[in-house]
Amino acid sequence: MLNVVLFGPPGAGKGTQSEILLQRYGLVHLSTGDIFRYNIKNSTELGLQAKAFMDKGELVPDSLTISMLESEVVKHAHAKGFIFDGFPRTSAQAEALDTFLAGRGTGITCMLALEVGEEELIKRLLNRASTSGRADDADESIVRNRIAVYNRETAPVAGYYQALGKYCGVAGVGTVEEITSRLCAELDAFV
Ligand code: AMP
Repeated sequence: MLNVVLFGPPGAGKGTQSEILLQRYGLVHLSTGDIFRYNIKNSTELGLQAKAFMDKGELVPDSLTISMLESEVVKHAHAKGFIFDGFPRTSAQAEALDTFLAGRGTGITCMLALEVGEEELIKRLLNRASTSGRADDADESIVRNRIAVYNRETAPVAGYYQALGKYCGVAGVGTVEEITSRLCAELDAFV
């Protein structure tokens, strides 16, 4: 299997690039943010619980996030592989993912990390608010909090994959096509 963690701060372009990569490599795209938003839209119990954290730009607790992610993986028993977008976001999630995948006889192939400067991220997210309709994109203080949470809780996850020799950093600036070619150049080394 080809299991890719597409990593980077909010606004780095993970969603855009995932859509392209999943078609090119025939992978299943699992975005925890999208799954939470789907649950909120459908007023599920999980959506209700997640919303309180998402509205503030905080992380949804690991216990909820990990069990949700695992049940999504199980739904795709015949997948050639997955793009994990927005997951793992904490070291506990990274460890849980490894244990879970090992139990299924597979593992993470690599982490592709999109690297983008902070002011560029804020500009992109505030711009995106007009098309995404996301409340957490529209409010600059929430956007800044999401980036602070990323720096504090999520950035260390890169070290986890670095230690395993699975980290590939890619410049997340330029045109969509330029960034895609950089990602594919890294990924093609594994296929
Ligand atoms: P995203 O669409 O990836 O920007 O995620 C939007 C929001 O969903 C985040 O700000 C978090 O509140 C929540 N979220 C998404 N993925 C995770 C995760 N892996 N762990 C905890 N919270 C998450």
